[in-house]
Amino acid sequence: MKKILVLGGGFAGIEAAIYLRRYKYNVTLVSDRDFFYIYPTSIWVPTREIKYKDICINLKDLQKAHGFNVIIDKVQKIEAKKHSVTLQSGKILSQYDNLIIALGASKIKPKGVQYTLSICGIPQQSLQIRDKLDELIKRGGGKIAFGFGGNVHDSSAVRGGPGFELLFNVHNMLVKKGIRDKFELTFFAPMQKPGARMGDKALDMMDITFKKNKIKKQFGKKIKEFTADGVIFEDNSKLLSDFVMFISAGNGHQAVIQSDLPKNEAGFVKINDFCEVDGFNNIYAIGDVSAIEGPNWRAKQGHIAEVMARNVAYNIHTNNNKKGYAKHLNILCIMDSGNGAVFIYRNNKKEKMMPMPIIGHWLKKGWGHYCRLSKLGRIPRIPGM
Ligand SMILES: Cc1cc2nc3c(=O)[nH]c(=O)nc-3n(C[C@H](O)[C@H](O)[C@H](O)COP(=O)(O)OP(=O)(O)OC[C@H]3O[C@@H](n4cnc5c(N)ncnc54)[C@H](O)[C@@H]3O)c2cc1C
Repeated sequence: MKKILVLGGGFAGIEAAIYLRRYKYNVTLVSDRDFFYIYPTSIWVPTREIKYKDICINLKDLQKAHGFNVIIDKVQKIEAKKHSVTLQSGKILSQYDNLIIALGASKIKPKGVQYTLSICGIPQQSLQIRDKLDELIKRGGGKIAFGFGGNVHDSSAVRGGPGFELLFNVHNMLVKKGIRDKFELTFFAPMQKPGARMGDKALDMMDITFKKNKIKKQFGKKIKEFTADGVIFEDNSKLLSDFVMFISAGNGHQAVIQSDLPKNEAGFVKINDFCEVDGFNNIYAIGDVSAIEGPNWRAKQGHIAEVMARNVAYNIHTNNNKKGYAKHLNILCIMDSGNGAVFIYRNNKKEKMMPMPIIGHWLKKGWGHYCRLSKLGRIPRIPGM
């Protein structure tokens, strides 16, 4: 029986482990946290619409449901040519036929980033954002800035959607509490048109929402640094803020940067359409850790990570009629606002944008439950989801 080592316990790693077990391989998954985190629904932790524990799935439960081995440890060194992975504990893993790298991305660290919190950072930051919001509500008001940054080396690593979602959710929470007028909400980003890759229709809709909800905009100025009281831009203008939620763009994972794996300029692992790492025939990179090639609107998303994972499991098993990820590239999201959502879809041929007041919010909530229960094997998977 083939031995397969999977590094990372996010959407990519978990999906790979689940599907490889369906083919009955001996699978070992290494993760530095003992739970799988459902990132897309984490936007509701800061507004207390969901409990943190409800978006964490214990890896022990996934292990029980699917029968893969789990090692909780941190991957420190990958020596691909030596066929060796070193963990923080000192343990060396070299007994594998195939290695699947699914470690996700690191984040660019602009000056002063420690003064900010990110909804896309380590899971615990969602709780810190919640506490910060509680503090401002208790104080009776304040200025809150939400933003995201770019990566000039790889536009697919830029993540803005959750920033918009959190902003709209906070707006709605404040409206419900009857204290929206006590807060100034601003969205900032260095691009002229943040969110442009979702398509023109989505951009227009966002503009209308900003105006309707009296949300200020600060677009098109590079960020110089963050300070304890706000954001300073390239022209030295300052956005004063009591709290800044900032999503840094992704870049290569530290263990990947230090490894002998081939990388693009941003530090993501170079792969072909079948997620095989360039120059190796038994190593794969999937999800956010990989350099995704394609149209300039392409984005690192969870459903793409899962397609890559399922393809790799299939390709390892069959090794002919291999499946590629490129034809599955699209943007798919239900952008939630707390009282509804907008369905956004884009591929090479079409762009779709459909407002879904009220029901959209519950659909996304439903997806969260589906994600948990289907990953645990308690309900069947819907093909492609
Ligand atoms: C707030 C938010 C909302 C989102 N919404 C959507 C959405 O609506 N739709 C969508 O498709 N995508 C969405 N995404 C994107 C999606 O979550 C990511 O694309 C997806 O998580 C990528 O999965 P991954 O497994 O490649 O990486 P990750 O999810 O980052 O997982 C990496 C895993 O590796 C582990 N790890 C990292 N370093 C080490 C190490 N050194 N040693 C051992 N383990 C390590 C981590 O603990 C983690 O378990 C969202 C992301 C965020 C943050």
